[in-house]
Amino acid sequence: MDTLKELAAQIGDCHRCPLGDTRTHLVFGVGREDADIMFVGEAPGRNEDLKGEPFVGAAGKLLDELLASIGLHRSDVYIANILKCRPPGNRNPEPLEIDTCTPFLREQVRLVSPRVIVTLGNFATRFVLKTTEGITRIRGTVQHAGRFTVLPIFHPAAALYDGSKRDVLFADFALLGEVCETARTANPEVHP
Ligand code: SF4
Repeated sequence: MDTLKELAAQIGDCHRCPLGDTRTHLVFGVGREDADIMFVGEAPGRNEDLKGEPFVGAAGKLLDELLASIGLHRSDVYIANILKCRPPGNRNPEPLEIDTCTPFLREQVRLVSPRVIVTLGNFATRFVLKTTEGITRIRGTVQHAGRFTVLPIFHPAAALYDGSKRDVLFADFALLGEVCETARTANPEVHP
């Protein structure tokens, strides 16, 4: 498989796990196909399920503000989730769903080939870093997974319920700007 379009076609009208029966729309991912930065979230929420796009609604608006704070627009980055379909009632992803769906995310990461992966919240961070560490402890620290630099941060939706996380998110995005510059200098042959 050489392109995200081919991958989307392969996923098709997926019913490989039970979430295929309860979703409205499968949310594949969106953004620049050769982005330097890839954001990995947890799963579509209600608005994303209805529209078929990741990060719409209030959490998406905050993500746009965070990107703008370091001079980026969402068309500059790639955004995907651990799960491509909404768990009913926004419950946590289950292990079977993660095991079944994440091969698609792995392919997205391979095809986009970002310099930096930003994991949003516990599930994305635990999956990408293969850690049991909670996001509150690990956020804002520069990590590595294979050839990727990884920056775990709070999920923007968490800041909608806890205002204190908003300032933390803006601080972590400032760090993201620095991390990207460092990764670009260290590995100039990726997306030259
Ligand atoms: S969550 Fe993933 S594996 Fe499950 S039906 Fe949706 S696309 Fe398929």
